[in-house]
Amino acid sequence: MRKKALITGASRGIGKAIAFLLAENNYDLYLTAKSNQDMLFEVSKTIISRFSVNAEAYLLDGANPKAVHDMFGNIPHLDVLINNAGQAYKGLLHEMPASEWHRIIDVNLASAFYACKEALPNMIAQKAGKIINISSFFGETGASCEVAYSAAKAGLNGFTKALAKELGPSNIQVNALALGLIDTDMNSDLSPDEWDNILESIPLGRAGTAKEAAEMVLYILNAPAYLTGQVIRFDGGL
Ligand code: NDP
Repeated sequence: MRKKALITGASRGIGKAIAFLLAENNYDLYLTAKSNQDMLFEVSKTIISRFSVNAEAYLLDGANPKAVHDMFGNIPHLDVLINNAGQAYKGLLHEMPASEWHRIIDVNLASAFYACKEALPNMIAQKAGKIINISSFFGETGASCEVAYSAAKAGLNGFTKALAKELGPSNIQVNALALGLIDTDMNSDLSPDEWDNILESIPLGRAGTAKEAAEMVLYILNAPAYLTGQVIRFDGGL
């Protein structure tokens, strides 16, 4: 029996790289994205033809609990949940509309709650399961002009540690991967000068790749079961 993994935000970037790597490692997949239907379905189609595993695609807003609940009606069992979907917001806090604040907290933090709430009853019954929350080093350091995003990722780190304690007796491991700068669409708005400034602060002198982030996810999945409740930094030595 192949293991089954749900990866949120898998139409592009890090989620897509995780999907390809888990498929290559013989996982059946459930994949989500919010609006890029063509890209999501292309990922699923390519994975099915290249790796001969299942890859079901669901276009939905992960910050909508009803949509997440409805999707789980089609998912009888999960071994792995990767809460990857996320969105950044750049701007001064005092100029941020309250609606945007709620959206950033919902997409980056509440979405992990909604997916865990649906996945956990079966994982707890099986006494097995692994959850990885894709976080950011901003959740630990904070970032100017990204206060809501930093707060959401800090919340995700707390969520990870607390949930790991709650689920330890059920043999379910919960960890967060706190990424540094990864070269994806999320950073496509950075000017060349902004890139240079950030790269100067990274000892390895470059951004990480989505493939490297995916390899870390697989590394955590393959780690001994004693690894839980950790926020693991992956940031080129920042
Ligand atoms: P991208 O912007 O490249 O991709 C984001 C993915 O999330 C897309 O698949 C997008 O779907 C999906 N998504 C966004 N909002 C929702 C939603 N409400 N419901 C469902 N899916 C949604 O981002 P990255 O790949 O760079 O980021 C992945 C994760 O890594 C995020 O959690 C991010 O915060 C984190 N991270 C990234 C860093 C970086 O430097 N890139 C650094 C630190 C953390 P669609 O295509 O339909 O929009």
